Amino acid sequence: MKHILIHYQEIALKGKNRYFFVKKLLDNLKKATEGLGVKDAREVNSRIIMELSSDAQERKLRDRVSKVFGIANFSFVHRVSNNIDVLEEAVLADVKANNSDFKSFRVKTTRGYKEYPLTSMDVDRIVGGLIQDATNSRVDLTNPERTIFIEILLKDACFYTEKIQGPGGLPVGTSGRVVCLLSGGIDSPVAAHRMMKRGCSVIFVHFHSYPYQSKISQEKVEDLTEVLSLYQNSSRMYLIPFGDIQKEIVLSAPAKFRIVLYRRMMMRIAQAIALKEKALALVTGDSLGQVSSQTLENMSTIENAVSLPIMRPLVGMDKIEIIDQAKAIGTYEISIIPDQDCCQLFIPKNPAIRTGIDEIEKVEQNLDIEKLISMGLEHTSLFKKT
Ligand code: ATP
Ligand code: MG
Repeated sequence: MKHILIHYQEIALKGKNRYFFVKKLLDNLKKATEGLGVKDAREVNSRIIMELSSDAQERKLRDRVSKVFGIANFSFVHRVSNNIDVLEEAVLADVKANNSDFKSFRVKTTRGYKEYPLTSMDVDRIVGGLIQDATNSRVDLTNPERTIFIEILLKDACFYTEKIQGPGGLPVGTSGRVVCLLSGGIDSPVAAHRMMKRGCSVIFVHFHSYPYQSKISQEKVEDLTEVLSLYQNSSRMYLIPFGDIQKEIVLSAPAKFRIVLYRRMMMRIAQAIALKEKALALVTGDSLGQVSSQTLENMSTIENAVSLPIMRPLVGMDKIEIIDQAKAIGTYEISIIPDQDCCQLFIPKNPAIRTGIDEIEKVEQNLDIEKLISMGLEHTSLFKKT
């Protein structure tokens, strides 16, 4: 198997933008498979074919490619001439050499090259007949034990028996850049992953209360950033000390408003970073009604602090659904490590569940908002994963 054949579905629908999408997908694939033995990757008849060297690392390639958004499915394939005599010989030789031990089978041909002189059904029949004669298995079109896929391309043909599910979505980088507020919790990494899946490259921002609290949350978000980078190749995360900002809020505002005020400050600082990074939106892991800061009233009070749109890809999801996602993408085990979130610092007993913008703005008159934003930005450190 010296090639990987990749199908992209959604991109094919994108009309004029198609070229841009395929190019991004190719770039992302090349980066994701660097060092694993890919000699060449190019588009052929609305597919991507990657040519592998003899020492290519198949297991790792499988794992990496399955995380590249924009891919519907992919396969490790044999690639031969599309001359029917050569093709049937090659398929038969492979069946005999490796996998003739099946009771039923079907051949399923598709043609990327539509001018090919034989129809797909012709090829099915010719190659199927040959396999039937050479083995003891029968043709079963509805529930075969083995399917032999053949794809006819312009200059050659590919055949294979396994289709590996891709992650779907759009290639990262085709929808622009966003800034995701990443806590050490379960939800925000899943939110970031969702945005990547829709083609966004995601920059992370984390607020911590070190030295008032431990460094664990910072270590966790670094680990989370590493895992999430598997889906977008490289990442940047801004670590922002938030404890002194929280102290100022605690000194000048009623306790019940603290959480909403913390959040509004986080949004403003994240927005400043977004503008610097030319990002078009902010992303959070909010899920409606999950905690006191996630009521509709508080979400809109928090949102009101900034002008950039806030994306909340998990807003309609239950915690159980989010946890399943977190497990599937590999962030859950990191997220559940106990830590001290900065919002637990000076947390009030009874946070206000329904705040209004007027009362919050009144309270904020006692705060020097611009100074607090600068305090956050000044002491920022950057974590990079390339
Ligand atoms: P998560 O599991 O993502 O922490 P949560 O259910 O704990 O979410 P909150 O703590 O209310 O909910 O946080 C809501 C959202 O606000 C988070 O999903 C995240 O986007 C953002 N957020 C909260 N704390 C931080 C932080 N310390 N740094 C960056 N973003 C944060
Ligand atoms: Mg949290």
